[in-house]
Amino acid sequence: MPIILEILPATDARHEAAVEALVLDELRRRIRKRIELMVCQVHGREPTVTVRGRVGTRYDYHVTGCCTAFVRSVKWRLEED
Ligand SMILES: [Zn+2]
Repeated sequence: MPIILEILPATDARHEAAVEALVLDELRRRIRKRIELMVCQVHGREPTVTVRGRVGTRYDYHVTGCCTAFVRSVKWRLEED
């Protein structure tokens, strides 16, 4: 499933690039784990997830997919804590 990360570097200069790469890896893994089994029951398609934000802050999840109902259920899954 496509997961697109559009995450800016942390403003905090103490963050090393290597650390940020780990943070993004972890984020990608967490997203995949959370929605990996989600396939639209009607169309059999997977969602595309785009995450935007800055390292160390809250991220915004943008989901696109085959239909509104499926996109909504993926968003719920992503945003629940
Ligand atoms: Zn669908």
